[in-house]
Amino acid sequence: MAWKLNQSDSVKLIYVTPGNAGTFHGNLTRPINQNVCIRKFFLSLAEWCVSRAINLVVVGPEIPLAEGINEALAHSGILCFGPSSKAAEIESNKSFTKDFMIRHNIPTARYKVFTDSQSACQHINAAPYRALVVKASGLAAGKGVVVAKDKEEACNTARKMLNDGQFGAASSTIVIEELLEGEEYSILCFTDGCHVKVMPPVQDNKRVGEGNTGPNTGGMGAYCPCPQISKETMRLIEQNVLKRTVQGLHEEGRTFKGVLYAGIMLTGHGVKVLEFNCRFGDPECQAILPLLESDLYSVMMNCINGRLSDAEVNWKENHSSVALVVCSEGYPGEYKKGKLITGMDNITEGSVRVFEAGTSFDRESRRKVTSGGRVLTISATTESLPLSNQLVLQAADGIQFEGAFYRRDIAKDGIIFLKR
Ligand code: ATP
Repeated sequence: MAWKLNQSDSVKLIYVTPGNAGTFHGNLTRPINQNVCIRKFFLSLAEWCVSRAINLVVVGPEIPLAEGINEALAHSGILCFGPSSKAAEIESNKSFTKDFMIRHNIPTARYKVFTDSQSACQHINAAPYRALVVKASGLAAGKGVVVAKDKEEACNTARKMLNDGQFGAASSTIVIEELLEGEEYSILCFTDGCHVKVMPPVQDNKRVGEGNTGPNTGGMGAYCPCPQISKETMRLIEQNVLKRTVQGLHEEGRTFKGVLYAGIMLTGHGVKVLEFNCRFGDPECQAILPLLESDLYSVMMNCINGRLSDAEVNWKENHSSVALVVCSEGYPGEYKKGKLITGMDNITEGSVRVFEAGTSFDRESRRKVTSGGRVLTISATTESLPLSNQLVLQAADGIQFEGAFYRRDIAKDGIIFLKR
């Protein structure tokens, strides 16, 4: 987001908190970009923004949104791109969201909400559908969903969440859902609380291993747009999912302004919503934003000011992006930090960019080292999906740190579809 905002003529200065080695002072050419360390409290963030005459705060992750950063900034007269905590419940409270989808006729898997494990297990055993997906209602960093292989595993999971407090307060209420089958995609839109501007469809790869094997991660890579999704399907999703959600939230006094993200499954019975996020995903963002032709700052301001309907939101036609995440050995489990990163300067191809994530500077040598599980994302945007894919893989092969690994099959489904 900082990279894209940096291209706007209206933006003079960008601060990133907490930032990383890639967003460090001077790394972006114009305007000057700085990392700042701001204590977690929103009040200190608001005071700091007032003292620097900052006019807009753009929020990346879901936790500050769920905790009310939007309202805290508004209290000090600072604009925030990202929804209020009431609107952000569409991500942070799954039981609310499932009931909301039923109220507004938004297609989703059949489900029931529970707070005691005995009733939950009775339902798992007796439901007229395969009630095998167990979800903590609150935020659990992507780990609070178990797709069980049988009823016994589903019951054990429900007990762990409800009786043993597996995710603390986040799993004091659970949702038990029908197991769906199909392909998963993500459809995001900008919204001003009333109008929507849909982004091209994107597909993330959650599992750590090639062929979608191994444990879930924050995301191993994404490609955009997905050629598998027809214009007609996009129109249906815009109408039956995104517009209904934005309108429903507004009617319920939870007007949503920002990026609304629908995680959907294309099933034999049509489109079903799996989840909503109240923000861009990572690495979906690094695949989508290089395709945006319009000025991101003005799109964001039009969302905040309720003027999205008149705004130009244009996308590069006939272009495709692939974003590939390079990780530390051991991720998503334990991993070592402080590994020297080399080879980033060798990337000279104009259509390829490196977006850093878990990177920092070593205190003594001042050289770039790893500091996270997902270290960096390589993104390429060209007129061909296979070419973008090839370029990110070539670039990844040229970047080294001890234990670096990545998947080679991120855009595989899209490329196979194109060959058919
Ligand atoms: P994320 O990390 O994407 O934010 P989350 O914790 O919000 O995850 P969901 O998106 O609801 O959880 O579910 C995570 C994954 O579990 C989905 O991407 C999907 O693969 C699987 N899943 C969720 N619900 C179902 C379902 N009803 N049927 C089949 N698979 C499901």
